[in-house]
Amino acid sequence: MNKILTNYQEILKQIDLCKNKFQHGYTNPELIAVSKRFSKEKIQTLLDVGHRIFGENKVQEAKSKWMDIRKQNPDKTIELHLIGPLQSNKVFQAMDVFDVIQTLDREKIASKARKYFDENSFKKNKKFFVQVNIGEEQQKSGVEPSLVNQFVKWCTYDLGLNIIGLMCIPPIDKDPNLFFKKIRCLCDELKLEHASMGMTSDYFSAIQHGATFIRVGTGIFGARD
Ligand SMILES: *Cc1c(COP(=O)(O)O)cnc(C)c1O
Repeated sequence: MNKILTNYQEILKQIDLCKNKFQHGYTNPELIAVSKRFSKEKIQTLLDVGHRIFGENKVQEAKSKWMDIRKQNPDKTIELHLIGPLQSNKVFQAMDVFDVIQTLDREKIASKARKYFDENSFKKNKKFFVQVNIGEEQQKSGVEPSLVNQFVKWCTYDLGLNIIGLMCIPPIDKDPNLFFKKIRCLCDELKLEHASMGMTSDYFSAIQHGATFIRVGTGIFGARD
């Protein structure tokens, strides 16, 4: 457990260093602790030192885990982000569990999200990122870069979804810098404040290019089983 705290402090320090080195005027980067496949005990370690922003990639796993964690921490305002692919039959469940959905990537999902609000109008405070297939990879989810503008506008103005930024996972076998830069450019064009990009291996470059949320799992919690 101690190792988790050491890692966590080190990452916060690195974020600060990086932010100061590349002062570029974007919102300060926030750390999303990616807790997928890590235990409630490990997560609690971070909650106990004041961390509040977490990410999970599976609706089912997050549902049971975080229902318990929220129950055990009623005084803490947790912000849970969905960073994994979303199936349309899981949208309602996802909206119940998560505060922020980062993987909005097609019309069907967006329409379901809108339907959720129509039926649960008291829960309008959800936020969304549109996931962009920035490397234009065949197997990857995400909106094609050339269609992002149109999709974001449709979600925002036609559906009334609160789109706050763009999210990407660059190709694993290429230098991520170019892709981070492209995402930041797209965000700026669309006047979106937030860019969710950068993981354990490349968060430093992501911050350099204006990431406002970085998603770090193994760098904090260690290797997954
Ligand atoms: C797992 C995951 C991360 C975190 O990856 P690490 O290498 O463990 O830091 C970030 N983003 C997404 C979308 C993920 O699925």
